[in-house]
Amino acid sequence: MATDQNKFQAIISHCKEYGFIFQSSEIYDGLSAVYDYGQYGSELKRNIREYWWKSMTQMHENIVGIDAAIFMHPTTWKASGHVDNFSDPMIDNKDSKKRYRVDHLIEAHAEKLEKAAGDALLEKMDNLIKNDDFPGLRDLIIENNIKCAVSGTTNWTDVRQFNLMFSTQVGSVAEDASEIYLRPETAQGIFVNFLNVQKTGRMKIPFGIAQVGKAFRNEIVARQFVFRMREFEQMEMQFFIRPGTQQEWYEYWKNERMKWHLGLGISQDKYRFHDHVKLAFYADAACDIEYDFPIGFKEVEGIHSRTDHDLGSHQKFSGKKMQYFDPEINQNYVPYVIETSIGLDRTVLLVLSEAYKEEDLSKDGKEDSRVVLSFPPKLAPIKLAIFPLTKKDGLPELARELMADCKQDFYCFYEEKDAIGKRYRRQDAIGTPFCVTIDHQTKEDGTVTIRHRDSMEQERIPMSQVKELVQKAIR
Ligand code: ATP
Repeated sequence: MATDQNKFQAIISHCKEYGFIFQSSEIYDGLSAVYDYGQYGSELKRNIREYWWKSMTQMHENIVGIDAAIFMHPTTWKASGHVDNFSDPMIDNKDSKKRYRVDHLIEAHAEKLEKAAGDALLEKMDNLIKNDDFPGLRDLIIENNIKCAVSGTTNWTDVRQFNLMFSTQVGSVAEDASEIYLRPETAQGIFVNFLNVQKTGRMKIPFGIAQVGKAFRNEIVARQFVFRMREFEQMEMQFFIRPGTQQEWYEYWKNERMKWHLGLGISQDKYRFHDHVKLAFYADAACDIEYDFPIGFKEVEGIHSRTDHDLGSHQKFSGKKMQYFDPEINQNYVPYVIETSIGLDRTVLLVLSEAYKEEDLSKDGKEDSRVVLSFPPKLAPIKLAIFPLTKKDGLPELARELMADCKQDFYCFYEEKDAIGKRYRRQDAIGTPFCVTIDHQTKEDGTVTIRHRDSMEQERIPMSQVKELVQKAIR
């Protein structure tokens, strides 16, 4: 059985081998921190996206979804503060020329220390970051003799800020071209459309706007697979509320979001809340939901009480009123906002980490093992695999009948090659919850063998009941 660190590597290899996730542009040696989803990975990702989307919009009468463009007017990012503030403190090693995010460098060092010493170091770091004390951060690195992993030296530059936004040019002629940014978060597309949605949807506060889409960040330390990418997907929801009610709604969304995570069938002890030490200047509360990845507890989602900062700032920069008239209290105001922001790719990694199992099935001196992805059926890329026992005697025809009946309702997979045992194992490796075998008895009495992925139990049921059984499991 893989240890946790090895487990992370095993998941990465498994994702590649079974068509879940590939390095981008691999034939050109890859592009760092950019990944492509393969045939099963894209299905898994789509299912997670849909699960989030439905639970936010369909299940909440006061939340609607939008799909805003990636490109936005450049002033958006002035107003949001990203041009001036979306930067991380960085430090370069003069010998290796390697650049590190200061917090990641110190955190990696803290992990190697005894718990008490590590915690003390992190507390010092948190305080320095809170006060934007860059010389202090550099001193902390030197005092603790933190070395560059590449050169092995402590020959560090000063700590500097480094903006994480990617920019590009729009316009056909160089002189006319203006610089725009690839959005570093999807939230601003929601804020600038606040009034459009509120008015056209006749929305009444409290209400939310949800969005899923790509975001781009020029991450420096980016070697944790899809945990930290330069192009990634976010699922965000901005909940607009009356000023003064933020504490209550913040608690509400913390609870709701944790329930959503637990709804994936994951136990509570794999999650924890982490309250932010350094609040953004406009925020009045913020926390992360952390999951116990094989690489340790890490952030998967942020919940932020953002006051009226974003709408207020867009009002100021655009000169357009971003106000809501609240008929209940007969007042105009700029609404406050609670944001929930979860990374889709990190959630894919979370679901994979939870599902990945190496099982020893050795019995009576005969060695055997399998790798199984125990996805919740609703998230599994393929729900049902259909196997005729042999390629003849009319069995493929019967199997095709079942396939035709089921494939409109959920994703099925048909295969007639190799021994049944081998076919089962291949489906285990991609997390298919059910396999059905059509054999000679099917011709006689219309029953099939259904095999359950996790228990590996097999039972005989009428072929006519297969579809309903799968539908029930994925509902
Ligand atoms: P981190 O501290 O890990 O850099 P963050 O606090 O900057 O994350 P937010 O700005 O709150 O992240 O973004 C919300 C969510 O978007 C995060 O919880 C995470 O799931 C996801 N996310 C952020 N950056 C990345 C990235 N580079 N790759 C993949 N997902 C990301």
